[in-house]
Amino acid sequence: MLEEKIFLKSDVEKTMDNYEFLGLKKSLEMKSEDIVKKITDSGLRGRGGAGFPTGKKWEFALAQKNDVKFLICNADEGEPGTFKDRFLLENMPFKVLEGIIIAAYAVKANFGYIYIRGEYSKAIDIFEKTIKEAYHRGLLGKNILGSNFNFELRLIKGAGAYVCGDETSLINSIEGKRGFSRIKPPYPVQRGLYDKPTVVNNVETLTTVAEIMKYEDNIFAKLGTEKSRGTKLVSISGDVKLPGIYEIEFGSGTLKDIIELAGGTKDELNFVVPGGLATSILKYDEINIPYTYEDLENAGSSVGSGGMIVVSQKHDLIDILLNVSDFFVKETCGTCFPCREGNRNIKEILLELKKKGYKEEYKKIIGELREAILLAARCGFGQSSVNFIYSVLDKFFYEEVR
Ligand code: NAD
Repeated sequence: MLEEKIFLKSDVEKTMDNYEFLGLKKSLEMKSEDIVKKITDSGLRGRGGAGFPTGKKWEFALAQKNDVKFLICNADEGEPGTFKDRFLLENMPFKVLEGIIIAAYAVKANFGYIYIRGEYSKAIDIFEKTIKEAYHRGLLGKNILGSNFNFELRLIKGAGAYVCGDETSLINSIEGKRGFSRIKPPYPVQRGLYDKPTVVNNVETLTTVAEIMKYEDNIFAKLGTEKSRGTKLVSISGDVKLPGIYEIEFGSGTLKDIIELAGGTKDELNFVVPGGLATSILKYDEINIPYTYEDLENAGSSVGSGGMIVVSQKHDLIDILLNVSDFFVKETCGTCFPCREGNRNIKEILLELKKKGYKEEYKKIIGELREAILLAARCGFGQSSVNFIYSVLDKFFYEEVR
């Protein structure tokens, strides 16, 4: 049976007195370029959902010669089924903080923000205290641990908008503007917060950075597969007996094994959402594939945020589709017409499906709307908003041939 591989969850944090900040101390003795190289060599990919190589993002940021740069930790975890960042903020806040300071030092940013989802009140309380204590102990502010590196960090509370998890909407929100997304490029590393180069990294990404920097050897690079290095926190929910956070080494088991690790399903399995609602589903007979970026992509889905939702056959598929559709209709920021109107049209089609039964043209129209939104929406929200719905229709709905 698959066992958890503990890399990220290696420390139990109680007080700052018993947390050594080893990764930070080692990093402050290194040149920024060498830290960036170590992260590039580690093969770490962004854990928010898109999987962009972290080292590459930092290389772009380091190459920007501006005097003012920003580092933002994106803790606006809103993806349904995803709660691994909440786990890290509540249980390992010092390692999260350590990763933030290392990243800032590596890309030469002297100002930073952590933007925490407003609903995460416990995490907000914990992190507020963590920042206060870190200033007190010389881990934030001027001349950090005697290194000549200055870094100021502020906490921002989100206000309940899913779209603000998109990095450009989040940047607008910090600037006091409405949480509308911006067109990319320019990417935030080129022009971000207040038009300055800005690195936005996810909580799990930065926490992993702190752990990687703790060791002389690049042990993270030796875990996982060639294209999917290291371990990933998977938050499993839905119809499993033991929902929770599991740390999985990429390639060490299949999706089926991960479900077994979480106690197996309560009823007969129907499908799995591998990485949050932004990802396409895999049916009960498609989950015998290794848990890696490459295998999930080959199967038409994605690792996404690691928010795995397990759905048994006891649920009504149309009710699930309507529930998901309702979420996207309510959460679209409305800037891009195809995302705003397309998602509304999809909901109307699904309501008609519920009333009159399935017709093949529904799938065709929703497929066309998906294409239009994919082409025209500015941000990841719109671009991925139809993945779940379309994949459920595609895999489970067909007109009866008489
Ligand atoms: P993206 O592919 O546009 O970008 C990923 C990251 O790489 C960004 O930081 C971007 O700035 C950077 N980047 C990409 N190309 C670059 C380049 N050429 N130069 C410099 N930087 C570059 O994806 P995205 O829109 O940021 O994220 C979409 C993903 O977010 C979805 O796949 C979804 O899984 C995930 N998501 C996560 C949550 C959550 O709560 N964790 C919520 C919603 C969506």
